[in-house]
Amino acid sequence: LSLIVMKFGGSSVGDADRMKRVAERIVRAAEPGRRVIVVVSAMGDTTDDLIDLSKKINPNPPAREMDMLLANGEQISIALLSMAIHALGREAVSFTGWQAGITTDASHGRARIADIDPKRVLAALDEGKIVIVAGFQGITPEGEITTLGRGGSDTTAVALAAAVKADLCEIYTDVDGVYSTDPRIVRNARKLPAISYDEMLELAHLGAAVLHPRAVEYAKLYSVPLVVRSSFTEHEGTLVKGEAALEQGIVVSGIACDKNVARISIQGVPDRPGILAKVFTALGNAGVDVDIIVQGAVDGGKADVSFTVSGNDLDKALSVIETVRKDVEYEGVSSETGLAKVSIVGAGMVSNPGVAARMFEVIAGQGVNIKMVSTSEIKVSCVIESESMKQVVIALHSAYGLDTSEQVFVGGPEERR
Ligand code: ADP
Ligand code: ASP
Ligand code: MG
Repeated sequence: LSLIVMKFGGSSVGDADRMKRVAERIVRAAEPGRRVIVVVSAMGDTTDDLIDLSKKINPNPPAREMDMLLANGEQISIALLSMAIHALGREAVSFTGWQAGITTDASHGRARIADIDPKRVLAALDEGKIVIVAGFQGITPEGEITTLGRGGSDTTAVALAAAVKADLCEIYTDVDGVYSTDPRIVRNARKLPAISYDEMLELAHLGAAVLHPRAVEYAKLYSVPLVVRSSFTEHEGTLVKGEAALEQGIVVSGIACDKNVARISIQGVPDRPGILAKVFTALGNAGVDVDIIVQGAVDGGKADVSFTVSGNDLDKALSVIETVRKDVEYEGVSSETGLAKVSIVGAGMVSNPGVAARMFEVIAGQGVNIKMVSTSEIKVSCVIESESMKQVVIALHSAYGLDTSEQVFVGGPEERR
């Protein structure tokens, strides 16, 4: 392979020693004849720490200033990683997102990459340098710094790989591949040798933090071969690729969960054309992603509408709904937090009736109440109380025959279990 993109997540560069180990790995990969672009995240908990710090100063900070703040985390990493490579006697150069030519739209905190002009990156590679690019950040055409959303460094890596037509994009993280479910929740989760873009996309959207959803979208769109592997071991990782390798008898290939779900119910919504559009357009304009939507039966010209949002967006969503109250003339609003969404995903579901029924049975068997349901061709999601999430994921994992007795690998070598 002559051109690769290697992406290292926050825990992989959590301290000086880990940073040095990553530098060694990069130098080993950058053998003669192979050009290497590295994308790196902020060290350890830096992004969380910066968010906490900002909250102490202003609980509701302007989104632009938040991006100005958060982009610094990755900027520290690129400089240190480049220094670490220099210390090993190799030439490297670090670039911020904007120096690397990454342009985004202006949605601060959740920006989308609009274009990449990799000319500086390519020129530095031509000079024989290892190029280190800051993940998670870009710049608008107006010159404003943006960030891509939590976990967005994966997306920087895949988008860059597509822009330079890399032969491979490797995502190095603290687990050694994509598992049938979060290996931190289910100890006997199974490492998947390969997974299709579509299944991975569902898992990522449904809460599997191992890959940023947009990274998978890009990988699919531009057919970027993607590998998820450990930065602490040489284990072979998981290949994310085009077609689903339908294993005989495997209906569910993975289980994802999202612990931070909130439900909003609007009572007494008039049953008139355009009313729902008003509510959800206002939410969309405010940047609130609405997930599962359920409208109850119409009674006396009015209906109740319930939907879920991320727990982080609850306050914003409630204030948006308040602003359309006059216009929509609903009767009341209530909300509920402490919910989780558990989803089963599998390309094999399409041709297997009864998958959802089995899921409901398993959850009922745990004595847990299902609050909302949503389905697509390759997934079924249930909203439940978050305190039962772990127990339900473990039960589903076992019920769908996904348990394995092989060793799971999580974290650094010292954390092997
Ligand atoms: P990084 O900092 O390297 O980007 P993340 O924390 O964003 O790492 O993603 C890796 C984490 O994703 C793992 O530690 C694991 O707990 C979690 N995870 C969730 N679902 C899965 C899954 N299906 N397979 C592997 N890891 C998963
Ligand atoms: N540092 C950012 C975050 O913590 C981006 C990333 O790690 O991918 O979300
Ligand atoms: Mg991540």
